[in-house]
Amino acid sequence: MELPKNPRPTTSVPRKYPLIEFPTSPQLIVGEEMLHFNHPQHPLSKLDLPDHFTCSGCKEYGAGMRFTCQQCDFQLHEFCAHAPPDLKDHPFHYLHQLTFYSKPGKEGKSKCDVCFKPAKGYAFRCSACGFQMHPCCERLSSETSFLCHPAHTLRLVPANMAGANGDSGFVCGVCKRKRSGRVFHCTVCGYHLHAVCAKNMVNGLYANGIKDLEKPSMLGSAFRVVSKVVIVLFEGLVEGMAEGVGEVLGDNLARGKGRNRSS
Ligand SMILES: [Zn+2]
Ligand SMILES: [Zn+2]
Ligand SMILES: [Zn+2]
Ligand SMILES: [Zn+2]
Ligand SMILES: [Zn+2]
Ligand SMILES: [Zn+2]
Repeated sequence: MELPKNPRPTTSVPRKYPLIEFPTSPQLIVGEEMLHFNHPQHPLSKLDLPDHFTCSGCKEYGAGMRFTCQQCDFQLHEFCAHAPPDLKDHPFHYLHQLTFYSKPGKEGKSKCDVCFKPAKGYAFRCSACGFQMHPCCERLSSETSFLCHPAHTLRLVPANMAGANGDSGFVCGVCKRKRSGRVFHCTVCGYHLHAVCAKNMVNGLYANGIKDLEKPSMLGSAFRVVSKVVIVLFEGLVEGMAEGVGEVLGDNLARGKGRNRSS
């Protein structure tokens, strides 16, 4: 049986470490440092950077505010760095207490019960029933407003009504497609939002304009191949081509580029 490691990372570091200056980069040092149990060899500094990173704790993406080691490649989401050792009465799982684990379970399922993505690192787990969720998903609340829909409060649709396989027929206001996982809903105007898309409002990706970081699907790869063929065709045919066809190909090219932009 795996015992939870003590996740209390709260040893604060006295200011004897000189902060490294980065005169050519836009790093904003917020002025908070910590020693974290998962990386005790170096202090972590709280920084606000616009680029995306992979959290060394939960293994998920993030952007913006983070705790980062300035001597090696170790970065944590702010909420992962401050993850509590246990959770009681969480709105997503109020019947049982949840315990923080720094490593995924060796056996059993690895899927998060909120966003339905694999839990590959830090997670809160219930020993009574096996429920688990990412630290980022823990930050979602059952009633909240999001940057993508600030006018109204969104409510988490109950699990048994959520169309757990993503086939409930709604269009998510952010990704515009069907995906698995829990769903938020606006009862005022019928807006829907996947929990997996809502995560990007918590982890800083949305606020920093970062999209499409997930691994390309089979469809995406196929589209890329098609784009290349179109590019070859386009380059071969561009001269003397009828204008209408040129527009269609140009449009395809633009879309292909848009899709590839951040990969
Ligand atoms: Zn994290
Ligand atoms: Zn380090
Ligand atoms: Zn999750
Ligand atoms: Zn439980
Ligand atoms: Zn979505
Ligand atoms: Zn609304």
